[in-house]
Amino acid sequence: MLITHYDIRLFYKCSMLLYLSYHGPEDEMSVHPILKTRKRDSQSKELTFKQIASRIKGTSIAIDNAKRVINQSWIGNRSYASKVDKLEQTNINSSDFSIYVPTFFRNNARARKPLMMEGTFATYILSEFYDNPVNYFIIRSKNGDTEYDVENYLSELISDLPLIYKLKSGEQSISPNYTRGCRVCEWRYHCRNLAADTLDLTLVSGIGKRVKKVLFSHDITDIPSLATADLSTLKDEDLLSKDLEYFQLQAKSLMDKKAIIRKKMSFPTSQIELFVDVEGSSHHDFVWIIGCVIRKNDEVEYKSFLANSPEEEKEMIVAFLDFISNLGDDYKLYHWSAAEPQYFTNLVDKYNLPRNPVHKIQNHSLDLFDIFKEKIILPIYTYTLKDVANWLGFKWNEPLTDGATSIILFDNWYLRNDRKSLERAISYNSDDCKALVIAKDYVVKSLS
Ligand code: SF4
Repeated sequence: MLITHYDIRLFYKCSMLLYLSYHGPEDEMSVHPILKTRKRDSQSKELTFKQIASRIKGTSIAIDNAKRVINQSWIGNRSYASKVDKLEQTNINSSDFSIYVPTFFRNNARARKPLMMEGTFATYILSEFYDNPVNYFIIRSKNGDTEYDVENYLSELISDLPLIYKLKSGEQSISPNYTRGCRVCEWRYHCRNLAADTLDLTLVSGIGKRVKKVLFSHDITDIPSLATADLSTLKDEDLLSKDLEYFQLQAKSLMDKKAIIRKKMSFPTSQIELFVDVEGSSHHDFVWIIGCVIRKNDEVEYKSFLANSPEEEKEMIVAFLDFISNLGDDYKLYHWSAAEPQYFTNLVDKYNLPRNPVHKIQNHSLDLFDIFKEKIILPIYTYTLKDVANWLGFKWNEPLTDGATSIILFDNWYLRNDRKSLERAISYNSDDCKALVIAKDYVVKSLS
């Protein structure tokens, strides 16, 4: 069996993902629309052994002929194979001795762990099987070339290769760690069900692979055992006691299926309440909507500020800031997470607008996400606005999976002029704003 760069990338994204890619029940897979961009990855997965062997042979011939540059190369042997965008010959320390350096073309120069390990894998193959002692690889992006030294990663790769082999062959299976990254994974429902069946610790918000390992070492192996653990006997320098208490409350809430109120607070009152949700198009680098539900004297109205293209973005933020300044001082603005204030600051900076109006908005703002995290425990796995509002009984009219899907809808409008998609994306934004109303009312009722 062949281990390819594709397997390496999957393993370091998530080891369960590698296992499921070959042995998961396909009818339980649900590809998130945003992942359809993964085409390039799956192409190499679908090449046959014979096709890969023939490409490796082609690269070997080019190396034997000392070709300086080999594009779209494949390197490897019967056990390992890696596709490399470009192999380039470089002389070492101005000597006559030259080596091939693997180069990967990417949009940005940052090598996250999966790419770091993919680069390490390519250097490992070149060093071990081609007598080509290279200890770095290059990412070529629009900002130029960035070199990455693999020295600190090589031993990890070598020690992980047997497990990668066993997972790919199906000789060994593993259980999922259900974390934030799972939200856009094609196996999210499958893994969430598996984790729920075993009451896995990673279903507790804030517990990831590392904390799970520490808890396991103290014989806390699932949600019920965490809910009833005696925390006073559990001293571990890797875990803060306040985090442990929080995890235990989460576990208790999940077991009892009930909310737990941790701290009360008094709420400011105001004549006007704004519930704001901002969406940006990360592909095209601009903010396309500032959505706002306005509640005044029990009357509720949704208003949106739109930028159909980057050229309209400045006009949009100016219109929004004018709208806010015309409200006077008796208002409160509610949002979910730190993203909204950050969007406002970025926009005024981008267009050299005065910062004062944004500072004023910040003084009138409350982050509902922070309030939930600090003061209320709900029997849910993640504290997204969608999960919280769903638990509170709110249903989105537009049945999108999440905000990432609304990015795709906006793309359909921006790139293909599909008005229906735009309407759906606006409708989703308006539901997000209404969900904030539900969340705020619950917080006031529970904490006052
Ligand atoms: S859902 Fe999560 S645990 Fe499962 S394969 Fe995907 S990333 Fe891994």
